Amino acid sequence: MKGGKLIIFSAPSGSGKTTIVRHLLEQPELNLAFSISATSRPRRGKEKHGEHYYFMRLSEFKQHIKDDDFLEWEEVYRDNFYGTLKSEVERLWSEGKNVIFDIDVAGGLRIKKKFPDKTLAVFVKPPSVDELKIRLKKRSTESDDKINMRIAKASVELATAPQFDKIIKNYDLDKALEEAHKLVADFVGAKTEA
Ligand code: 5GP
Repeated sequence: MKGGKLIIFSAPSGSGKTTIVRHLLEQPELNLAFSISATSRPRRGKEKHGEHYYFMRLSEFKQHIKDDDFLEWEEVYRDNFYGTLKSEVERLWSEGKNVIFDIDVAGGLRIKKKFPDKTLAVFVKPPSVDELKIRLKKRSTESDDKINMRIAKASVELATAPQFDKIIKNYDLDKALEEAHKLVADFVGAKTEA
């Protein structure tokens, strides 16, 4: 596989990484395109197939694993599989884009290992696990059980932060957005206004 650069944003869910990734996608000089992951989890709220995720049945997801179609995949939560299809990255590279990922910590590190030189792996750190809980509850798209599952995973994920190229502390969103923009611009060699 050849092509542009890979930018990974990983973090416990609720850390604000999705907001950061969306902000970066709006900056034309970065020439970014979002890697749409495949998942076996059910759709939430207004999510659309082919825009937020490629939603698929568990059996279909497992077939793709067998066929070696994934660059990486992970059973992020029990029976909820997520993965990056090789065909997705190839599609975006063929459009001349740098690819940006919003994926879990293990998946992010796996991609970094496969493409060490062309990947920037960024960990987004939330202020605290308690703050994460508040953010996830505010989002209120899921049951308490699911939220607790995400919180338990967050503590494990926080321990992997030092393995990333960069850590952004998302205590103040505007500052985090600015820092993320600068990091990515430097990495892809884009000029930004000072
Ligand atoms: P959510 O269910 O909130 O959309 O995502 C749950 C977690 O799965 C998030 O941490 C998200 O970043 C991660 N995730 C999304 N897509 C992928 C993927 O393709 N691979 C991996 N490993 N994790 C993913």
